[in-house]
Amino acid sequence: MTDFSAGAAWMRGQVMPIDQASIGVLDWGLTHSDITYDVVPVWRGGFFRLEDYLDRFMASMADLRLDPAMTRAEIRAALVQMVATSGLRDAYVAMVCARGAPLIPGTRDPRYCANHFFAWCVPYVNIIPLDRVAAGVSVYVPDDIFRIPEDCVNPRAKNYHWGDFTQGLFAAKDRGFDTVLLTDHQGNITEGPGFNAFIIKDGQVVTSDHGVLHGLTRRTAIEMCQEQGYSVQTRPLPLAEFLEADEVFLTTSSGGVLPVVQVNERHFSNGAPGPQALALRSTYEAWMQRADFRTELAYAPTP
Ligand SMILES: *Cc1c(COP(=O)(O)O)cnc(C)c1O
Repeated sequence: MTDFSAGAAWMRGQVMPIDQASIGVLDWGLTHSDITYDVVPVWRGGFFRLEDYLDRFMASMADLRLDPAMTRAEIRAALVQMVATSGLRDAYVAMVCARGAPLIPGTRDPRYCANHFFAWCVPYVNIIPLDRVAAGVSVYVPDDIFRIPEDCVNPRAKNYHWGDFTQGLFAAKDRGFDTVLLTDHQGNITEGPGFNAFIIKDGQVVTSDHGVLHGLTRRTAIEMCQEQGYSVQTRPLPLAEFLEADEVFLTTSSGGVLPVVQVNERHFSNGAPGPQALALRSTYEAWMQRADFRTELAYAPTP
């Protein structure tokens, strides 16, 4: 029996253990970060909102003029086959399209590259460890590292341009914070390494409308808040307003809704996760099981 406990990959039509998957050193995905990807969660044996994640991935590829010569149905089938083969019931499932290696050695013409699709999955990832989520997340907002402007790198296509986030993470870790959140050059909160950010103030919910990936968990959070009677605004969110919130939370497919208890020197809700953010975290967990959002997987019976 092949061991997929560490994860599986789909490459060129084959499903393999994740440690056997690799791409070439000449791939522009590696040498130029010329790549897009998406991450969909599998939870208790089914994909969550798979069609919405596929919509975003297809749009990202079109935006970057990446064409893997696979249809949406073929991509969906690859993901289903890979996860079912892996046996993973709770998984972080990445789908990737890379520019590929140049077909003419050394060319700088992006039209002559062999674009290709691959996918991989690993056991479900919590980008903030669960004990830190339970205690409440601390976030550092630097005043000397900024989110790359959206007219330079389009944040709505999920990408590997993480230079700003990585420098921000070092700055946050140096100061003992869990993670980092970046502003734009005008001082508006944008996003962090793999998550969107929200505030709640007097029953109003605000999240940034620009400079961010339109996270699927962001969308789910907006829908949950609307259903629960909050008024939701997507608009520029100045850091000063952010620091005056009643509650702050982060959203990500790798962990759901994450209550924040500290931003820089400011502490929220008496240093414990806020009740409204905690309620949204529970609602998200319930929505992950909603039949209308799920694509159930058919796993091979375990021997
Ligand atoms: C993936 C990601 C998010 C969160 O998006 P989800 O679809 O909710 O997982 C936010 N910002 C960035 C930069 C991301 O890469």
